Amino acid sequence: MTAFVYRCTDCRREYARDEVRYLCPTCGAAYRPGIPLVGVLEAVFDAEHQRAKFDRSRPDWSLFSAVDPVHYPPLMVGHTPLVPAKRLGETLGLPALFIKNDGQNPSGSLKDRASFLVTAEAKRLGEAQVVCASTGNAASALATVCASAGVQALIFVPEKAPRAKLVQMVLAGARVIPVKGTYDDAFKLSLEFTAKRGGLNRNTAYHPLTIEGKKTVSLELFEQLGLRAPDAVFVSAGDGVILAGLHKGFVDLQRAGLIDTLPRLFAIQAEKSDAIHRYVETGTYSDAPNPSTIADSISVSCPSNSHWARRAILETKGRTLTVTDSEILDAQAQLTAGSGVFTEPAGATAYAGLLKVQAGPGALPRDAQVVVLATGHGLKDVDAPLSRVKIPAAIEPTLDAVGETAEAITR
Ligand SMILES: *Cc1c(COP(=O)(O)O)cnc(C)c1O
Ligand SMILES: [Zn+2]
Repeated sequence: MTAFVYRCTDCRREYARDEVRYLCPTCGAAYRPGIPLVGVLEAVFDAEHQRAKFDRSRPDWSLFSAVDPVHYPPLMVGHTPLVPAKRLGETLGLPALFIKNDGQNPSGSLKDRASFLVTAEAKRLGEAQVVCASTGNAASALATVCASAGVQALIFVPEKAPRAKLVQMVLAGARVIPVKGTYDDAFKLSLEFTAKRGGLNRNTAYHPLTIEGKKTVSLELFEQLGLRAPDAVFVSAGDGVILAGLHKGFVDLQRAGLIDTLPRLFAIQAEKSDAIHRYVETGTYSDAPNPSTIADSISVSCPSNSHWARRAILETKGRTLTVTDSEILDAQAQLTAGSGVFTEPAGATAYAGLLKVQAGPGALPRDAQVVVLATGHGLKDVDAPLSRVKIPAAIEPTLDAVGETAEAITR
């Protein structure tokens, strides 16, 4: 543990940790559901303490944690493999390409990192219920981590969430409330709920510790690459909170004197859910009017963390790009066949972005160390890639029949 204060990312006022819970009380007053969050709080640690205590030969990451590990749920979250993807990297002119396989988290997505820390915070505060709105993964993550911690999860989901995610949260004992309408409608309802009926709200970026939880992926990358930061990280963006978490993790490492420069962050959005991309390109925010993509986890009209997301791209000299559903499915197939990492469409979106960057004028140089975040497990949504999969017909159980159909079997 290291002491920290919350600092408003808009007005930069500072607050003691238990003085505030969600948004900056001053700037947050201007927030209403339907616009990107304002007054998002950032945890600012005592970097001198981190510098003094951090031992490179035995890294103690609790120095970067906002919640004392005594409150952590028992389930192990994070610590996911960083997979070298040499074969794919060669085809892209990037021999030092890695896939961070966050589908290997307990509920199958990177969202476990945020749910883990907010649930630890609920334990610290003695809150019996944690509430969230989610397109699916944040909710199944919260349900899973709450089951481990013995805390009640209450979840508002848009009615079109994929079945596997709904099954996960119901089985884990969460109270699940499907809401007619979009994710944005569910988000709004969950805010009304905690404002009037209590519980700790885990909505992404609304609770500042969601960003702190997600930043652990950067701390792990730093450690897994031999105590250095990569040159570039590719991530898909819906609400822009994983992006902010990545940014925050590297900023913390920089403040603590452990890295000099921030890696370039590349945020990839679906073509029809592109509010952050347009915000970065034009400097003016507007909603994605009718978000629709096969990558359900990044289908968002009004990304809650748009302002921080834009700052993360500008500060790291990164880029945003959009990709089509067809590019996402192609990328998913290539990534699975070329590395063994099967990630849901929202995870493959990051890889689709890398394919696009390497095919264009801004291709990354051969010596760049590049990480693609595979944010969720492929089994989360097996319907999505069905159009790319031909399951062979059954044969007679004879060798002759195998011979005849060998071609069909190799797709
Ligand atoms: C939530 C999610 C994302 C996007 O994260 P944001 O913080 O909403 O930008 C990407 N991939 C998967 C699998 C997710 O669940
Ligand atoms: Zn403020």
